[in-house]
Amino acid sequence: MRCGRCCLADMFACATEKDYDRWRREGRDDILGMRDAESAMWAGDHFISTKTGKYIRHCPFLSLGGELCACTIYETRPDVCAAYRPGSSYLCPLFKK
Ligand code: SF4
Ligand code: SF4
Repeated sequence: MRCGRCCLADMFACATEKDYDRWRREGRDDILGMRDAESAMWAGDHFISTKTGKYIRHCPFLSLGGELCACTIYETRPDVCAAYRPGSSYLCPLFKK
């Protein structure tokens, strides 16, 4: 459905060394730089930026333009995102109990 609800998180918290190795190998300074710029911190029930103190409401690579959301780093998104199955979480509107 591309509603983007599964991307309302800070994916850097779940990225692995394997992901970071791939991004370094691919020269994805845009991704690595974003991690340093955001510097997210868990604040009980949401993430905040340790740089600005503001809420981090969604992954910085989520494109919200138009009616459908999109991942702007789809080709090299972290494994946790690639492994996610629609409907597998209560966050997803496709979830069935
Ligand atoms: S997997 Fe679910 S939460 Fe994620 S975009 Fe699709 S419908 Fe929305
Ligand atoms: S990297 Fe892409 S798929 Fe993963 S949370 Fe961010 S926008 Fe969503």
